[in-house]
Amino acid sequence: MAEPLNFLSALVGSFATPAAENPTVAMIESAFRHHGLDARYINCEVRPEDLGDAARGARAMGWRGFNCSIPHKVAIIAYLDGLGESAATIGAVNCAVRRGDRFIGENTDGVGFMESLRGVVDVRGKSLVVFGAGGAARAIAVEAALAGAARVRIVNRGEARGRELAKLIATKTSAQAHFVLWRETYRAGAEDDVLVNATSIGLFPDVGARLDVDLGGANRQAIVADVIPNPPRTLFIREAEALGFRTLDGLGMLVNQGVVSVRHWFGVDVDPSVMRKTVETLFGV
Ligand code: NDP
Repeated sequence: MAEPLNFLSALVGSFATPAAENPTVAMIESAFRHHGLDARYINCEVRPEDLGDAARGARAMGWRGFNCSIPHKVAIIAYLDGLGESAATIGAVNCAVRRGDRFIGENTDGVGFMESLRGVVDVRGKSLVVFGAGGAARAIAVEAALAGAARVRIVNRGEARGRELAKLIATKTSAQAHFVLWRETYRAGAEDDVLVNATSIGLFPDVGARLDVDLGGANRQAIVADVIPNPPRTLFIREAEALGFRTLDGLGMLVNQGVVSVRHWFGVDVDPSVMRKTVETLFGV
């Protein structure tokens, strides 16, 4: 017997403001099309005062879940029914997932980065240097520590935020954590296995901005990574490549976040290369 016609697609989406320049909808819907998933991703402009209504709306309309971005990553927690382990430790959610009739908050920022990193190195027992102490740095540092990194060094311009993150890692994970105040050039050393720019330095249109880091003394086996997705070949990445380091760009992290979100919502592993191609076309890479 023929299947009955079905005009009801599964729904997911994103709540943020500003939302217009976020390419995630195009990236994720390209994966839906490639894999024949009958699902739609709705990119929504949601003001802070409307976040509760948006979350209740998603629940009422049977959404499988949603991403949330700036400025909702912390505020959304009040409208959820629980948190995954790393989201609870990070204290921020960027992916809500329906499990039964509950919405659980997850954080894919760090997991997306770790998926990229796993392709080139096993972080267990390694030393990680994270530049920055904001949302992206927090997610990467926590996730790497939970995955077994031995040491995490937080290098940040602002002292309070940097110290707080180092303390979080030291108290909530088994990794050792140290804070370095970033007031002069950070000189990478032989003990640094992975160096990650998790600041906003280098983001379009400020593409000439330079990280105050000297990679000259680093171990040539070290991995140099950047969270900036646009442009993916930042000055930091280009300098590292010129010195012979293996690099990971922020586009990989963005794409892997999409992979992790779709896995959370649909239990399906989508092809990252499809999504990467879509975003590269959009960014003109
Ligand atoms: P936050 O505003 O939370 O944090 C920004 C961090 O950058 C802070 O530690 C800040 O230091 C530091 N910083 C900014 N400008 C400078 C500067 N001129 N010199 C030294 N330090 C500086 O931002 P997020 O963590 O949310 O985002 C950071 C970047 O990560 C963004 O560019 C974003 O696009 C990218 N990102 C990429 C993702 C991906 O999937 N590829 C996912 C999430 C974010 P201080 O504390 O001293 O102010």
